Amino acid sequence: MVKKYLLLTPGPLTTSEEVKNAMDFDYCTWDDDYKKITQSFRNSLLRLAQVTSDDYSAVPIQGSGTYGVESVISSTISNNDKLLIAINGAYGKRISEMAEIYNIEHVDLVVDERKPITLKEVTEYLDKYPDITHFAMIHCETTTGILNPIEDIIPYVHGKGITTIVDAMSSFGGIPINVEQEEIDYLISSSNKCIQGVPGFSFVIARKDNLESTKGLARTLSLDLYAQYIEMEKDNGKWRFTSPTHVVHAFHEALRELDEEGGVKARYLRYKANQEHLATGMEKLGFKVLIDEKWQSPIITSFVYPTADFDFRKFYQQLKEDGFVIYPGKISQVPTFRIGNIGEVYDNDITKLLLAIKSIVD
Ligand SMILES: *Cc1c(COP(=O)(O)O)cnc(C)c1O
Repeated sequence: MVKKYLLLTPGPLTTSEEVKNAMDFDYCTWDDDYKKITQSFRNSLLRLAQVTSDDYSAVPIQGSGTYGVESVISSTISNNDKLLIAINGAYGKRISEMAEIYNIEHVDLVVDERKPITLKEVTEYLDKYPDITHFAMIHCETTTGILNPIEDIIPYVHGKGITTIVDAMSSFGGIPINVEQEEIDYLISSSNKCIQGVPGFSFVIARKDNLESTKGLARTLSLDLYAQYIEMEKDNGKWRFTSPTHVVHAFHEALRELDEEGGVKARYLRYKANQEHLATGMEKLGFKVLIDEKWQSPIITSFVYPTADFDFRKFYQQLKEDGFVIYPGKISQVPTFRIGNIGEVYDNDITKLLLAIKSIVD
C-alpha cells in the first residue's frame, strides 16, 4: 500500500472523501437515472460558465482533457479554414501538433514561455494573415502557471468574425469566466481540475450556432463533438459509447461541493490565498518564482532551482515521504519545478508543506 499523500499537481488532484465515495455504485450507462445525472451536470456547467442553454451547450467527451481539445480541433474546423494558435507553453504546442496531424492549415504565434500572450501580438498576426478563420489559446498555461489575458484578446478576435477556442482546462471552475461576455465559442476543461472530480472525461462549452454548423467535419468517429451533442440532445443525456459512469457520479458530487463552498468566486479566493501563501513562503526559503506576479495564476507556481546543483529527485522523494507530491518543471530555458495548490488543499496544508520544505533545505 502506497503511503497517503497530498497531491500538489494541477490535476489529478486531491479530492474529498465524498467525491471518492460517490464512485461506490455501478450505474447503468443508458438508464434514465444515470442520464439525469448527465443532464444535471451539463446544466450546472452552463451555470458556472454564466451562460444559458438558449445559446450554449455543455458537451462531455470521454477521455482526459486532451481528448476534449482534440475533439474541438479535429471536428469543428474544416479543410477550408485556417487556425491561428497562440503558444507560450506545452499545451499551446499540443494544439499545433493536433493541427499538423489532421492537416489543418495553421499559423503558430510563439512567444517566450515566461511572457503572457498579448493583444498586440495577436493583432499583428491577424493583420498579416487576414484569412484566419479560427483562433485558439490557453487560459492558464499549466506549463509555467502563467495566466493569459483572454479577456483582452478573445472579444477582439471574435469581433473580427473569427471562431474562438479557449483551453481553460486548469482554470474553469477555479477562476470566474463569463463565456458569453468573453465571446468564447468553444471552451474546454475536464473533470479532474478545478471542479475537483476524478480523471475520466473532458467537456466543451460550445456556442450552439457555431457547433450546429460543424456537422460532417469530424475526422475521427469517437471525437466527433457535433455527433456527441446531437446524441445527448436527442436522447436526454445519453453518451455515444460507454461513458465513465463512476467518474460522472463523482463529478456530480464535486459540483455539489463547489456550490457548497460558495461557487467559483469562493473557490478562486481559496486558491488565490493558497498560492500567495505558497509563493511568499517559498521566496523566504530561497526559491524564486519564475513568473512575474502580474501574470501568475492562482493554480500552479513554477520555482527556479535555488542552486545549479539542486537535486530535484532527492527533494521530490523527501517531500513524498513527508506526504506531499509535487511536479517537475516543463520549460527549457530555466530549470524549474512546480507546485500546484488546487483540489482539497487549504491554508494549513500550505503551512505544513512549507515546514516540510524548510526542514529539507535547512
Ligand atoms: C491538464 C491540461 C490539459 C489536458 O491534459 P490531460 O493530461 O489530457 O488531461 C490541457 N491543457 C491544459 C492547459 C492543462 O492544464
